[in-house]
Amino acid sequence: MEPKCYDRLKGQPAIVTGANSGIGKAVAVQLAKEGAKVVVNYIGNEEATKEVISEIRDFGGEVMAYKADVSKEEEVVAMFRKTIETYGTVHILVNNAGIQKDAAIDEMSLEEWQKVINVNLTGQFLCSREAIKEFKRRGIDEHISNSAGKIICMSSVHDVIPWAGHANYAASKGGIMLLMKSMAQEVAPEKIRINSIGPGAIKTPINESAWSTTEAEQKLLKLIPQNRVGEPADIARAAVWLVSDESEYVNGVTLYVDGGMTLYPGFATGG
Ligand code: NAD
Repeated sequence: MEPKCYDRLKGQPAIVTGANSGIGKAVAVQLAKEGAKVVVNYIGNEEATKEVISEIRDFGGEVMAYKADVSKEEEVVAMFRKTIETYGTVHILVNNAGIQKDAAIDEMSLEEWQKVINVNLTGQFLCSREAIKEFKRRGIDEHISNSAGKIICMSSVHDVIPWAGHANYAASKGGIMLLMKSMAQEVAPEKIRINSIGPGAIKTPINESAWSTTEAEQKLLKLIPQNRVGEPADIARAAVWLVSDESEYVNGVTLYVDGGMTLYPGFATGG
């Protein structure tokens, strides 16, 4: 069900990284529907980016696109500068950009390790640092939100579930968990809220091979007690709540949106 309330984020500039695909796209659209002024960060695929921009403009949403690699310090700093020039400030950051480069641990190259850590973990550090600087500079604007700023770190069920063959990815997500909690602890006194969302299996390009055939989907469903693969909209609705004042007292947690994947489904029949 689409939420009926469409102004929970009115007037709040929001940067969503990796927002021209999958989860990021759904989050960007949903934030805009709630009145946020959205920066659609992307790294490639101009056509897909134009589609997100038109989708948001079609319902009267405010949006701009900004190309930047989240793992490059100078590009991240420039993205925040441009956002603040355009919209005056930033209230929301959704650290969503992420990649996988899978390999058996004894075959994983240093490049495959570093690329995933650089984008998934260092990218979240760089964007969070720039966001927090701006949140602290501005402080609370009570006409806009009860918090000085909100960050969502897009993590994964793999911040707690080990994942053979994906050690770089799982290490990046485990790292995000303690980055998120440490930052949240540090800046909570400034009324800045930082939380993660841990998606389970969501139908997006990153994991297409895991759900695109019936056989693959049936195998995947064995890991999901609710017996349904998630959709990007499942994550987008949780993201809106987590950056709205409805979750004002929620800080430093991972909200798993996973149909029960973290419930150890292998033990459902006694283990
Ligand atoms: P996706 O591949 O559709 O989207 C990833 C986005 O990140 C793309 O827009 C891509 O261009 C962008 N990106 C990659 N490198 C970038 C960089 N250096 N700078 C800026 N943008 C960059 O995949 P998705 O499933 O939508 O993934 C979004 C997030 O959700 C990721 O952090 C992923 O780890 C996480 N996640 C996804 C699932 C799932 O089942 N789909 C599950 C758990 C966590």
